[in-house]
Amino acid sequence: MSADSRARSTKDTLISYLEYLSHYEKDLYLDSTPDFSALDAKQAASHTENSISGSLDPYPAHAPYKSLAEMESSIKGCLRCPLGSSRNKFVYGGGSSEAKVVFIGEAPGAEEDKRGIPFIGRAGKLLDHMLSEIGWSRDEVYICNILKCRPPNNRDPQPEEIAECELFLHEQLRILNPQILVALGRVSAQTLLRTKAPLRDLRSRLHKYQDKPFWVTYHPAALLRNQNLMPTAQQDLITLKKMVEEGITEPDSLI
Ligand code: SF4
Repeated sequence: MSADSRARSTKDTLISYLEYLSHYEKDLYLDSTPDFSALDAKQAASHTENSISGSLDPYPAHAPYKSLAEMESSIKGCLRCPLGSSRNKFVYGGGSSEAKVVFIGEAPGAEEDKRGIPFIGRAGKLLDHMLSEIGWSRDEVYICNILKCRPPNNRDPQPEEIAECELFLHEQLRILNPQILVALGRVSAQTLLRTKAPLRDLRSRLHKYQDKPFWVTYHPAALLRNQNLMPTAQQDLITLKKMVEEGITEPDSLI
């Protein structure tokens, strides 16, 4: 390679990197004072200390990380929102790093909060069973939540919590680069699609989230409450498997 080509290549790399960083100025706290209003006094003091000392966000959502393990170990002490102070365990996500399908719930429940593993209680066992019915296992898909920490009494995620934690989901999805995403339940689907449409209107068609095809089905906890929904939910997974196998990614190609 000539000296000119080398210089051009270095310049292109530098420009790409600066463009990448410019997407994440907010997270790096380079261009504005962060809003600490949702944090308690202790957390706000810790963030302010970091800002004053000129250090970067201690739990950056976009490093960019090279692997899921590296990202998890960097953010597992996260205090970006008040749920960080009340959690027992941080619940990052689990499954195959090469998964074609990523299932996304809303937030960890009591059992997940105890053990740090997503979908591990009765609802998780039902999800495992439903996956096995279509010939899949938990080890070949990836399962996570929008929030990595449990909201008190399993209440719905609040907008300020989503605003902080969804950035982690984006980075997880960037690393995973799956073929298709699946929202588990109404809250996950409505939150990620920014809609108040009922679940019945969101199922049975492909949406987009973060430029990925996005499928919607029931939360397994809802199926435990109403077993009449089971056949419909299982059909959702059968259609999902067909889409994955046939490489269907566009809403119009879904039959
Ligand atoms: S819910 Fe998300 S943003 Fe809030 S403390 Fe936990 S990991 Fe951080």
